[in-house]
Amino acid sequence: MTASKGPVLLTPGPLTTSDRVKAAMLRDWGSRDPAFTRLAGEVLTRVRALAGGTAEEHVCVPVQGSGTFAVEAMLGSMLRPDERLLLLVNGAYGRRMAEICRRLGRPFEAVEVAETEAHDPAALAERLAADPGIAAVAIVHCETTSGLLNPLEEIAAVVRAAGRRLLVDAMSSFGAIAVDISGWGISALAASSNKCLQGVPGLAFVVCRSDELAARRGVSVSLALDLEDQARALAGDGQWRFTPPTHVVAALHEALQELEEEGGPAARLARYTANRDTLIAGMARLGFVPALDPALQAPVIVSFLEPQEDWYDFSTFYDALESRGFAIYAGKMKALGTFRVGTIGAIDSLVIERFLAAAEAVVTELKQKLIR
Ligand SMILES: *Cc1c(COP(=O)(O)O)cnc(C)c1O
Repeated sequence: MTASKGPVLLTPGPLTTSDRVKAAMLRDWGSRDPAFTRLAGEVLTRVRALAGGTAEEHVCVPVQGSGTFAVEAMLGSMLRPDERLLLLVNGAYGRRMAEICRRLGRPFEAVEVAETEAHDPAALAERLAADPGIAAVAIVHCETTSGLLNPLEEIAAVVRAAGRRLLVDAMSSFGAIAVDISGWGISALAASSNKCLQGVPGLAFVVCRSDELAARRGVSVSLALDLEDQARALAGDGQWRFTPPTHVVAALHEALQELEEEGGPAARLARYTANRDTLIAGMARLGFVPALDPALQAPVIVSFLEPQEDWYDFSTFYDALESRGFAIYAGKMKALGTFRVGTIGAIDSLVIERFLAAAEAVVTELKQKLIR
């Protein structure tokens, strides 16, 4: 199941992909070749279905680029200049949405809670009731900054009951943690090829309500990130407006096939959950403490508090693990010194066990160096 070359990536994406996904890139596709158009069409249809979207009401719009491109396209294309957005922030990706709105000159306000705290649906209900001028709400599903899961279904219920629209950054949860844009009444959801879908980086998408997108024709100030324009071109002749990342699309097609064979998002979630539980239990034996309350911890990436001990230094720790075949991730939390270990990708708990053995050897070695 693991990669044949390079370190095992215990990172949130790019992540470890299967040999089968990598092999799908070993041919060239013409972007206007009917075979490619069919392949890409299948990818978009499958992604829409995974989001809980329907052909009648939703469209999956591809965005060439990394995940942020899709978030920016979503915020720039699904809100008219007068639609004020309430941003629920508890990490760097929420703050990134604020930065995008600032650059686009779109009206927004942010409600920020601690990075170790989930957003509270009841507090949101009060806020929406008190401010009828808020047209839409945006939230990050899994805040990859910490690894925290926000209560998306409950938040969506509140937004829907208040008659507002909801935009979601589901980048690091999509494909493993269930979401139902139809049932939960979500207007738009952004995700990418290279996280829980286990494809390679280079393609992102926004699954959104077709009617709401069509009603916002011309609102995007960006040409390349105009979702309505891209959707209209695709609906016309099936062509992307600009060069599609053909190899990335082919790899994602294969990755979606793998997801189905694995048993869909529920089976994938079970595997990631086993990875996370194995990781946290094994790291606890080595003295590492997670930054989050277990109830908030998604099975995607775990932030561990950096040891306040002389042997520890992130780059030394990183290099020693890397030389043993594992790439971990630097921390990103504002108030806490952390490092992160991802539990997603084409890895299972046996890989996590091997990582734990490597981590144990590294800790022992670094402590011994200190003695000598
Ligand atoms: C990965 C990620 C993104 C996108 O990051 P890119 O580096 O642009 O791919 C956005 N939001 C969240 C929550 C993420 O985890």
